[in-house]
Amino acid sequence: MTDTNILPHLIQAIQSEMLNNEEEISALDRAIGDGDHLTNLLRGLDAVAKLNNELIQLDWSAALMKIGMTLMSTMGGASGSLLGSMFVSMGKTAKDHQLDLAGVTAIYTAGVESIKARGKSDIGEKTMLDTLIPVMNTLQTAVLESQDRSSVLKNIKTAAIDGMLSTKEMLATKGRASFLGERARGHIDAGARTSQLILCVIADELGK
Ligand code: ADP
Ligand code: MG
Ligand code: MG
Repeated sequence: MTDTNILPHLIQAIQSEMLNNEEEISALDRAIGDGDHLTNLLRGLDAVAKLNNELIQLDWSAALMKIGMTLMSTMGGASGSLLGSMFVSMGKTAKDHQLDLAGVTAIYTAGVESIKARGKSDIGEKTMLDTLIPVMNTLQTAVLESQDRSSVLKNIKTAAIDGMLSTKEMLATKGRASFLGERARGHIDAGARTSQLILCVIADELGK
């Protein structure tokens, strides 16, 4: 993979994708949460974008850690501390890995594991993990099967979309939506949707 010069472009692509889906994302968190998920995310992305000049001077490990600490201190919400800890963990793990498929998989896996630990949550609880974990499983399979780059990127997108959609009929057992019981059914989780949009944008950009 390329160096951290790609970060400003990726961050910008993610910001535009969030804005393109602004209404839908806000409505999702309003339906079964408190409506602030997109605002939280945009605040975090904006703070990260302000660090662009600094980030491109750093290696992946330091850049990911910096992003994580920035998200943690600016985003707010459950998602801020979870995504923040994901990036800090990815940064720590990136120290010991190349950015080939196996390395990216190990780094991403460490990030997902840190959300599970911090959120005391797992797949099937109607959260962002329902997008993030299937993508982790897809990456791990891709390593075992030595899949080529374009297959991996395509499989990541499919797993993210299927995972996001799977939250619709789930009952929530973590986060604000868990207070709603049966009323949460029929709504996609906002964090699962934004995680899916972000992963799909990254896959598209890396496929160009
Ligand atoms: P808040 O719920 O504090 O307002 P956000 O609206 O920014 O924070 O983020 C809500 C999202 O965070 C949810 O849609 C869900 O995907 C995710 N989330 C909440 N709690 C957890 C948890 N324990 N584990 C994993 N993800 C969680
Ligand atoms: Mg919210
Ligand atoms: Mg909130």
